[in-house]
Amino acid sequence: MATNFNYDINPGRIVFGAGKLNVVADEVRRLGRTRALILSTPFQRADAQKLAEQLGPLAAGVFSEATMHTPVAVTMKAMEVYDALGADCVVPYGGGSTIGLGKAIAYRNDAPQIVVATTYAGSEVTPILGQTENGIKTTVRDSKILPEVVIYDPELTVRLPVAMSVTSGLNAMAHAVEGVYARDRNPVSSLMAVEGVRALRDALRIIVGQPANLPARSDALYGSWLCGSVLGTVGMSLHHKLCHTLGGRFDLPHAETHAIVLPHSAGYNAQAAAEELEPLAKLFDGSIGGGLHDFARSLGAPLALKDLGLEEAQLDEAADLAVKNPYWNPRPIEREEVRSLLQRAWEGSRPY
Ligand code: NAD
Repeated sequence: MATNFNYDINPGRIVFGAGKLNVVADEVRRLGRTRALILSTPFQRADAQKLAEQLGPLAAGVFSEATMHTPVAVTMKAMEVYDALGADCVVPYGGGSTIGLGKAIAYRNDAPQIVVATTYAGSEVTPILGQTENGIKTTVRDSKILPEVVIYDPELTVRLPVAMSVTSGLNAMAHAVEGVYARDRNPVSSLMAVEGVRALRDALRIIVGQPANLPARSDALYGSWLCGSVLGTVGMSLHHKLCHTLGGRFDLPHAETHAIVLPHSAGYNAQAAAEELEPLAKLFDGSIGGGLHDFARSLGAPLALKDLGLEEAQLDEAADLAVKNPYWNPRPIEREEVRSLLQRAWEGSRPY
């Protein structure tokens, strides 16, 4: 039975399909823009430059200094370049770091964003921006931050290394797992969550053996769009709080941390949100925590926080921080329980 709900739908245009990189110029024109600043990390600079050549006079230039955690200093530098080149829109080409830079620019000058997404992190469909200044990360939510257009071209993900495909895919699944038990969930967000996890599950199983399998790459990107849309629609809980804490305080890498913590955070909430998690548990042999752990192991994903360089002695502080200003969670957040969750995630043991 459908019960009461509110659903704030994020507007945005999704252009999906192999070869769709070719329509960036059409999308720039569609928005009535004539000078796109293309953004990338240093690693994807060559691809960004190729896109600039493809856009010809529609490209104002390339800024390829996007980096993790969206430092405000980099945003300011990019905005100087944006103004100096007379740009009138941005085309972030890459994963969450590059998309974060595009959002940070748009937050300040309302530049339209035409995002070419090349990982599974999901940031391109959320109105959320995380940025850092003087070592402090803050998160803002604003309609200006939501990209106007997202281009998903699976051909661009064929060279995403298998290890990153796996951790990025598990990162996407984490949005969906927390989405099904979110307090502000609605029937559509829950449908998207389950379908997103199913698509990613099936696709990742193929991608680990055949990274260039285009149908699997398409399905993974489709799944990540759905999971990202859930993140943009409903509130997140303990899992995201843990990962923000571990990333922010101990500088652990984003996707890997999500991948390792997910089976444990899902296991923590398995009883309290049993009904909501049931469709997802069914996708993983009936057990959301243990099943996700087995799935991650079968893909060769990292399983233990100790392998990311976290010291056992830091777990107490991590637990203290994670229970401070907690996000709403279906199961009460108890310090000792969270501490043992972290211990298991640190060791890489199978969750109960
Ligand atoms: P990333 O953007 O940091 O990319 C990691 C590396 O992979 C970079 O060097 C990048 O250039 C490279 N890369 C990206 N796509 C590639 C491809 N197809 N082939 C080869 N190399 C490729 O990683 P990410 O996991 O996508 O993003 C993580 C960041 O995104 C974090 O800072 C996180 O906080 C943020 N994020 C934000 C939101 C949000 O809604 N605000 C959501 C998810 C993630």
